Amino acid sequence: MKVSTDPGFYHKIYGTKTQRKPRTVYYKKDFIDYTVMMVLTALVIGMSYGFRHFMSIAGYALCAFMVVAFAIRHGVEIIVPVLFRDPAELFWVWVYKLRNLRPVYFVALGLLVLENVAIWLTPGLPHHSDWIRQGALYLFYLNVAGITVYRTISLVDHLMKREMVREILMQTPWRRSVKEKTNMVLEIFHAYFTGILSHIVLLGPWYLIIKYCNFSVLFLVPVSVLNVIVHLKWLQVTNSWFYRNHWLGHNSELQFVYFHGTHHDAIPSGLIAVSENGFLEGYFRHTIGWPNPFYHPLVAFWYYTTEIKFDMDLHQYIPGVFPKLPEGSIERHQHSTHHYGPLEPYGFAFNLGDGDDFGWIPDEMRNAVKLDLKLGFKWDNPTFRRTKMLYEKYHNPKKQPKEQEAAKSTAGHD
Ligand SMILES: [Zn+2]
Ligand SMILES: [Zn+2]
Repeated sequence: MKVSTDPGFYHKIYGTKTQRKPRTVYYKKDFIDYTVMMVLTALVIGMSYGFRHFMSIAGYALCAFMVVAFAIRHGVEIIVPVLFRDPAELFWVWVYKLRNLRPVYFVALGLLVLENVAIWLTPGLPHHSDWIRQGALYLFYLNVAGITVYRTISLVDHLMKREMVREILMQTPWRRSVKEKTNMVLEIFHAYFTGILSHIVLLGPWYLIIKYCNFSVLFLVPVSVLNVIVHLKWLQVTNSWFYRNHWLGHNSELQFVYFHGTHHDAIPSGLIAVSENGFLEGYFRHTIGWPNPFYHPLVAFWYYTTEIKFDMDLHQYIPGVFPKLPEGSIERHQHSTHHYGPLEPYGFAFNLGDGDDFGWIPDEMRNAVKLDLKLGFKWDNPTFRRTKMLYEKYHNPKKQPKEQEAAKSTAGHD
């Protein structure tokens, strides 16, 4: 599958007149837009799960928490929201989304439609769609519960080590907002709730498909195999799709404030992570973008669970806190640099090499950083060097004294 490396494709902006430089943080002037975005998020949740469903009620509470947390963390300034300052963006946002769709998205959607038409045309066959729906709902809640337990273990570890979290963040550009007096309990809970709310919103499209589409026992094996093939094809273009979508998330004011900003508003920890998505951002990416929700629920469950867990692990840019990255892992991808200052890299920035360990992953994803490098990113940069230094210092603190002792005793013998 051909992946473009033309900067004109990745860095094109159509209509906006309001933004002069890319956005990475919220300001108090965003309060009205942020509140509108949270109301829209609550609506999307209610329309997906049903307005009285327990997931919706949890979602509404989290949306309310986010508005209060915004006022405490950033302050409040009342100005005309970007929706009115630059209404054309509301049109362009759909143009961007439609133009970035990849053929593999339509293949996944087509397979789902085909299966549903086949079931509809053959009502006499033992499809047992209700069993599959029931099983799919169990898998859905298993994903919600499993990921939430994992996130909660991480929450407890962050709370227990909150002074170390503060100390580390104060050695990074986060020192602009994390200071001696900053309430770290609020920052950590804000990150945790960001992750939970992003998770609830992201799964909305999948829940709707489980509820309203049919899946047949008879087609389970062939459809699942086709879905896995489709997903491997998707992995060839995911980074290119993501780069473009993510670049817009920072360079279009409306897309930053309404879609991507929530992913950067919380501290750079695994607590926030749900496959790289903000609140509404996840919902629209998994409606007009990613193929995941269209897969057979068994396959969708596998990819949703592994991708979210993987993304949590890879977003733990505060070293020494659960989930701890395996030794050396921080050196093989640079999304950390994106969260710690400079905007580049916009892609996933994996640099996993050509070894056997990740041989099954297409090169476009395994060595995704190649796209960023072609578009101007420098692998060796001061932010990355500082991140590696922080990992050396905090990732295995017990190892350090031993190494220092060994170094001392060697020095003594010299
Ligand atoms: Zn970003
Ligand atoms: Zn991220």
